Amino acid sequence: MERKHKLLNWQLATWTQLSKAKLAHTLPHALLLWGTEHESLYYFGKLWLQNLVCISKERDPQQGPCHQCTACHWFTAATHPDFLELTPEGNSQWIQVDQARTLVAFVQQTAASSGPKVVLIHPAENLNVNASNALLKTLEEPPANTYILLLTTQPNRLAATVRSRCRQQKLPQPTDMELVVWLKERGYDENQIGLATGLAPGAPYTALHLIESNFAEFEPLASGLERLLMASDSTSAVAEAFTKDQAIHLNWFSKLISLLIRRRLDPNREVPEKLQLLSEYSEKVSVGRLIEYLDGISQQHRLLQIHSGLNRQLAWEALLLEWQAMFRSDVSNQR
Ligand SMILES: [Zn+2]
Repeated sequence: MERKHKLLNWQLATWTQLSKAKLAHTLPHALLLWGTEHESLYYFGKLWLQNLVCISKERDPQQGPCHQCTACHWFTAATHPDFLELTPEGNSQWIQVDQARTLVAFVQQTAASSGPKVVLIHPAENLNVNASNALLKTLEEPPANTYILLLTTQPNRLAATVRSRCRQQKLPQPTDMELVVWLKERGYDENQIGLATGLAPGAPYTALHLIESNFAEFEPLASGLERLLMASDSTSAVAEAFTKDQAIHLNWFSKLISLLIRRRLDPNREVPEKLQLLSEYSEKVSVGRLIEYLDGISQQHRLLQIHSGLNRQLAWEALLLEWQAMFRSDVSNQR
């Protein structure tokens, strides 16, 4: 069963702002909500739409949906007849034009309940070109009492024609301190929290999953990199291991280097216990060099997405040889 998600403290101001707009009848019919973490956007967005369809009269809408009425039950069971969710289906990463047409037909039907019709589109940057075009007219002039919510972590990747037809609203992310407090309330220890918030700043659910999984996704990357620094394993062996689930490894590699850079820029920042060795090594390298290396990882990530035929083993070996070389020569690192 899906955990019951509540509003998070740092989201309250946005919630209040939207609630007030609803009461004042100024709520936009097409709202593009953007932020740093998809899951945060998703739970907030679902709760907001449930709040719009909730029919309880005894509640204060600013406090959220009642979770008791039939509309709330239908909504959480994903059977509410006036709610439609558009997200990539099957193996596709894209939201297709057929789905967009379903949406257009859906908003034109008469509502089954007495409340509004609500639509959720996520991740909105995955609307393909044809789907985007099919939605333009509906986004511009949605039927009365219809609310379309689009969620994205990459607003710049949306078609400009879609973006310009939506009101844009940012969903704030937690500060480091807010995130630490939130995780502490869940009873985790300081070491776990330090590592999770370092790797996933501003991303509460990512940090939570890291801790709950005992850092299962991050662990192989960190230990592989350490083995290379201590020369206890060969570049080709580590590279080969990283070719499996490589998108995951590249993601955490970026997050790790970002953490090391932040730590260099703010030496008072505590180093998580698990990263002592990597952090010590990173002290030997200039910040500029680390930033360059981070760029290299991003480039490789993009290349691997575009060219499925790329030789992964060679690409990883190049990246890891550079990783080792970075710490070897003091002279070249002074630039
Ligand atoms: Zn309700």
